[in-house]
Amino acid sequence: MSLSFYVHIPYCIKRCGYCDFNTYTPSELQDGATLEIVSNDYIDAVLKELEFAPQQIVPTIFFGGGTPSLIPARDLGRVIDEIKKRNGLTSDCEITLEANPDSVTLEKLESYIKVGFNRISFGMQSVMPHVLQVLDRTHNPANVEKAVSMARAVGFKSISVDLIYGTPGESLDDWRQTVEAALALDIDHISAYALIVETGTKLAAQIKRGDLAMPNDDLMAEMYLLVDQLCQEQGMSWYELSNWSKPGHECKHNIAYWRNQNWWGLGPGAHSHVDAKRFWNIKHPTAYKQKLFSGETVIAESENLTADQKRDEAIMLGIRMREGLLRSDLSSTQIQTLSTYGENGFVEMLQDRVLLTPTGRLIADRIVRELTF
Ligand code: SF4
Repeated sequence: MSLSFYVHIPYCIKRCGYCDFNTYTPSELQDGATLEIVSNDYIDAVLKELEFAPQQIVPTIFFGGGTPSLIPARDLGRVIDEIKKRNGLTSDCEITLEANPDSVTLEKLESYIKVGFNRISFGMQSVMPHVLQVLDRTHNPANVEKAVSMARAVGFKSISVDLIYGTPGESLDDWRQTVEAALALDIDHISAYALIVETGTKLAAQIKRGDLAMPNDDLMAEMYLLVDQLCQEQGMSWYELSNWSKPGHECKHNIAYWRNQNWWGLGPGAHSHVDAKRFWNIKHPTAYKQKLFSGETVIAESENLTADQKRDEAIMLGIRMREGLLRSDLSSTQIQTLSTYGENGFVEMLQDRVLLTPTGRLIADRIVRELTF
């Protein structure tokens, strides 16, 4: 059995209005502090947590956040080196960096390659300034093209961009321009996520006050079908509900999640899944560091998955993927339910498996609820 690692970098320069991730600006952590001050001993803490992880070989490492590209390569490289030393990496180990296009330079990207990164994912979100403004994103859309070219020039083997659709005020044509601009870049992979308005965010407050209005479900569906169509036309196939790639550029790390393989999340708030046990860390970076430096566990809670939970999770995750669900893993009642969806064009009933059609992907959650009820 192998073990993937997720490494959480819980820092951002500014909080975007829609974001409820476990990330902090330096001044949220310490009055008037700089990023250097708050992140100073963070990697030491991560390396301490690593000592608790199993020593199985590692096929993927993913640095996410927050904004990992704010942290110098030499610091992130310490984590890669230590994982390599104690666990070993597979010969084709995928090592991904999530990056803000504004926080990279040619020299910085070169230094990430030198410490072992081979895949990079840029937060692009949109090319439309009015959409980025609603999202409160600080990056300049023109910097994405520059960042992608530099990443290719220094040798990143796989380049991805993240997009968001369904922002208040975004039209279908705005979205088309964003997807076309992304597909015009020298990239191998696109993730496109529907905007989710999380309670407690600035965006949620703006919507509640009536300052902004969310798009209706029909527009959201049209946006999803449009990105699917444009990606397919450019040779990027759908391989998971929100992910498209050129052949061979599927994100192996995310596939490990969706196939319910073993992974360990390092960092505050990070979740892990090892041998049907789930556990997650305390959320605040300061408490996380203090506990590790005093030799205590940072696991906040854990649960052992029951046979029923494992079966339901396999359905929930498997149906999201291009390979779909094996008929042999389904009960006759579940197959009957899926056949009804098949008659209405939402699923394709093959001899050995069942796959979602593009319109079926729009109602994947509803289908999962019915199958796991
Ligand atoms: S850069 Fe990403 S992680 Fe940071 S606040 Fe914005 S959306 Fe959240």
